Amino acid sequence: MNVVICCDFDGTITLTDTGKILLSNLTNEDWQYYDDLVIKGKMGTREALVIQWGMIKSTTTEEINRIVDEIEIDPAFNQFYEWTKEKGIEFLIISDGFKTYINRILHNHNIQIAETDIKSNDMELVEGKFKLKFLTPECEHNCANCKYSQVKQFKDKGRKIIYIGDGLSDILPARELADVILAKENEDLAKELKNDSRLITFRSFANLLEEKTKEFLLE
Ligand SMILES: [Mg+2]
Ligand SMILES: [Zn+2]
Repeated sequence: MNVVICCDFDGTITLTDTGKILLSNLTNEDWQYYDDLVIKGKMGTREALVIQWGMIKSTTTEEINRIVDEIEIDPAFNQFYEWTKEKGIEFLIISDGFKTYINRILHNHNIQIAETDIKSNDMELVEGKFKLKFLTPECEHNCANCKYSQVKQFKDKGRKIIYIGDGLSDILPARELADVILAKENEDLAKELKNDSRLITFRSFANLLEEKTKEFLLE
């Protein structure tokens, strides 16, 4: 099928942002300051993530797992994902987060997505400190994982792009490349593109499973 779904992970599939939850739990330093710089367009996520994760003085895999295991996902996500598989729609997770926790959260909720369908950064814990590994090379937006260039590869092949997301890092790829934009209600992506004719807002994946939405996505 010509359609490809490009879906954000944190705050879209999960109910909260895993990266922010981890930072809140593992450091007392003011990591939010760097999020504000990203929001204001004064810093890219690549630079911000290096500074923010560098604030964590020491942690362990057990501590990370304990926090990650509290993360909840949208209760209807699995059903939506199963529907895309049934219809033969390619479904990719494109995230500026980290593979380590994404895999664990998906596994915790019995969601089986092929490793190759998850495009995200990775991290390694070396002597208690995080070593970040970014998926894409440096780009003009200073992204950690450049969602724009990830989605563009599919756009250039003439694929129909259904973009699902919620936050700041979704605005550029959605605005420039999407054919349909599914945005979490009241979040940055929906607010920023509120007058865009391609925009459909949703509260939960349950909304996307409604008959008329499914028909529309398959058009
Ligand atoms: Mg997000
Ligand atoms: Zn970029």
